[in-house]
This record gives sequence, C-alpha cells and structure tokens, in this order.
Amino acid sequence: MKAIEINGKEIANRLLKQQQKVVQRLKNDGIIPKLVVITFSDDEASQVYIKQKAKKAKQIGIDFECHRLNHSVSQEDFKRCVKKYDNDPSTSGIIIQFPIPQQYDLKEVSTWISPDKDVDGLNPMSMGWLLTDQAHFLPCTPKGILYLMDAYNIDVVGKDIVIIGNSHIVGLPLAIILTHQDATVTLCHRLTANLSAKCQQADIIISAAGSVNLIGSNDVKSGVIIFDVGMNRLADGSLVGDVDYAKVINKAAKITPVPGGVGPMTVAMLMDQTIMATCYQHGIDYQQVIECR
Ligand code: NAD
Repeated sequence: MKAIEINGKEIANRLLKQQQKVVQRLKNDGIIPKLVVITFSDDEASQVYIKQKAKKAKQIGIDFECHRLNHSVSQEDFKRCVKKYDNDPSTSGIIIQFPIPQQYDLKEVSTWISPDKDVDGLNPMSMGWLLTDQAHFLPCTPKGILYLMDAYNIDVVGKDIVIIGNSHIVGLPLAIILTHQDATVTLCHRLTANLSAKCQQADIIISAAGSVNLIGSNDVKSGVIIFDVGMNRLADGSLVGDVDYAKVINKAAKITPVPGGVGPMTVAMLMDQTIMATCYQHGIDYQQVIECR
C-alpha cells in the first residue's frame, strides 16, 4: 500500500485565492487588514518563515510590516514596541517570531499582545479559552492540521493519537483541541519512555520534534495517518521532517510531505486569522464575509 499524500501546498493555494477575494471585499469597504511581525531573529529558519509570511500577505493583499529589534533592547522597550502596534487601530494582528533571546521573560512577553490581535493564539487568555473550547484564535500550526484533517475526511473521534513534542505552539494546544474532539491523545516529548511502542499503537501520529528520522517504518502500524510538522535542514540544504518519508509512505494510509505538507497551512491559517481579527475589530461578521469565498 502506498500512502495518499496530504497536499498542504495545494490546499493552502486554494485558500489563498479565496482569501484574496475576502480581502478585496474588505478593501472595497475601506478596510485594510494589516499583519505585524516583531522579530529579533538572525537565524536562517526564522528569516525564511518571515519571508514566507510577507510573500503570502502581499499575494492576498494584506499589509505586512516586519519590525526588527536588537538583542540589546531592554524588556521595557520590547514591551513598548509591542504595545505601540497593539494600540494602533490600523494593525489587525501581531505575532512575535520565536525564538526570542533568552534574556526576555517569555511568559510575560506572551501577555503583551491583546487577545483581539493575538493571531497566533499564544496569549494566556487565548490559551485559557482554548482549554475551555471557546477559542477565537488558535495557534496557526494546530489550526492548519485541523484544516487538513477536515479536507481529507480524517475523523478523530475515538482514535488513538500520538503527538510528539509538547511545545506551546504545536503539541500542547493540539492535544487539548483533539481531546475536545473525543480523540484519545498521548502527548510525548524528549523524555517519554518507549516512544516507538506508543507510536506503533497509534491510528494517527503528529510529530513536531525537529528530529530527523525520528519515526521509521518499524515505529508505525499499517494504515497509520501521519502529520509531519518537523522541519529539519540537512547539510546539503534540503528540508526534511521527523519521519523517514521514503519508507513510511509504503505503510501509512495518509501522510504529509516535508516540504509541502503542514508548513504552507501554518502560513495560510495566519492569514485567515488576520482577516478574522480585522473583522472583529470592525464589528463585521467574519462568517458572512468568508461566505463570499
Ligand atoms: P520545541 O523545541 O519548542 O519543542 C520540541 C518538542 O519536541 C519538545 O517537546 C521536545 O521534548 C520534543 N522532542 C525533541 N526531540 C525529541 C525526540 N527525539 N523524541 C521525542 N520528543 C522529542 O519545537 P517547536 O517550536 O514545537 O517545533 C518543533 C518542530 O516543528 C521543529 O522542527 C520546527 O521547525 C517545526 N515547526 C514546524 C511548523 C510548520 O509550520 N511546519 C511550525 C512550528 C514548528
């Protein structure tokens, strides 16, 4: 059996065309969505992510601003910068591009973007709403995976799902959301014992570890569905996920490739949530606006 490839790139491109129409409709009413990214990053991966966000925003018609901060900036000045955009009515959504330098208090930083502009869903209030199944904005990667599940008719009710990686941007929120959807979730991490045995029992595996070849064909059962979130740059410059794709594809039922799987969906969801934020801030019914898609 050869797995069906879950084509995130194609679905994201389809969404992009719909988002273009929605943004045009908002612009016809004089409303221009704007996304601001605040970054310290000089690392290559973050630069690539920011470029992708800028490119997609431009294609859709969303205004995009990237504000770079220097590592020497104090915590107070960092906060002042975030708050400047948070208080600016022309800014619809803000994200802080992780990683940020260690000297800043991450827990405090995540409270600075107010919930109505928190398009990455990382404010503790947004996280609290997520816990009680009332979230407006979800973290973008989990939301992208949910969208792909829907697009490929993947039912999670009663399924055994192993998530590898418990970060607050991917694994942890996803575990909460899928638990709300009546899946049985096992959330694993670096110190989890017998990871392979757990994966072998899983109907669905979502790997967000950032570890090359973490999952091989002996670690999965036949017919498993795999979402590979990991993005690992090899010495030859190529990008691979956490899963040994070439081998696992012969055993899985459905699988996301890297690149072209989850990654494009993360960016597409960020654009969606920026449009959503714009609608909320202007008292527009988001559902009504997207019906023109
Ligand atoms: P993180 O470093 O915050 O968390 C990594 C998690 O994986 C931790 O829970 C850690 O314990 C676990 N882990 C690491 N190695 C492991 C191993 N060998 N066995 C079991 N668990 C292991 O990372 P993150 O920000 O959540 O990102 C994880 C990966 O996903 C990275 O490769 C990142 O580039 C990628 N990512 C991709 C997207 C996308 O849109 N495709 C979005 C976010 C992150």
